[in-house]
Amino acid sequence: MDYGEADRIFTLLTRHHGKVGAIAKGIRRSTRSLAATLELFSTVDVQLARGRDLDVVVQAVRLPGPRLVADLERTAHAAVIAELADRVTEERHPLEGVFELTVRGLEEVAREPEPRRATVYFMMAALDLLGYAPELARCVACHRPLPEAPAAFSPPAGGLVCADCAPPGVPLLPIQALKVLRVVASGSIELYRRLRLEPPLLAEVEGALEAQLEYHLDRRLKSLRILRQMRSCE
Ligand SMILES: [Zn+2]
Repeated sequence: MDYGEADRIFTLLTRHHGKVGAIAKGIRRSTRSLAATLELFSTVDVQLARGRDLDVVVQAVRLPGPRLVADLERTAHAAVIAELADRVTEERHPLEGVFELTVRGLEEVAREPEPRRATVYFMMAALDLLGYAPELARCVACHRPLPEAPAAFSPPAGGLVCADCAPPGVPLLPIQALKVLRVVASGSIELYRRLRLEPPLLAEVEGALEAQLEYHLDRRLKSLRILRQMRSCE
């Protein structure tokens, strides 16, 4: 966020201190490369001076990692990951695993030819980390093991609902989508990378995970709304 004549305020996700607000003074006038170092979604080693409200950036060094801002689609996906990290982390209060998961998610968005796949994986990992992983083995209504058949997905109930228990008219996820959800939930990125995911299948999986996230975060994610608008324009 630009501030005053030449300053810029950053929200940094740190490994040990949660979210930290920091101001980089004169960054928009400076000829130093600080602005390029503190690029959105980049990983940096930063030295801060304690301030009253905001810390002050003294020095920053960019660490090796992907550059995402040049690519509109990847930027939109990186924004989902950043917004999620922002929403679940408190100021100066680390949440175990969020920093590592976010860095990995951003790297995956950069390297994955289809960034949507990376976001799907990240959303499931974030749900798991927050304790909101959906139930995918048993029906959340009758608690019987799910048969090899389409099932409904219910965020309020916390997972899959078998066709017998699903209210009439509720759309059912195809078996393929259930399989993909289970692979993602298993956390095996290698297995997940090998799956063939046609856009309609990816959309089913995406829809379920987005609904689960938005249900638990209690508020829609701005970045997901932008992603949906981009998809509907395609
Ligand atoms: Zn059931």
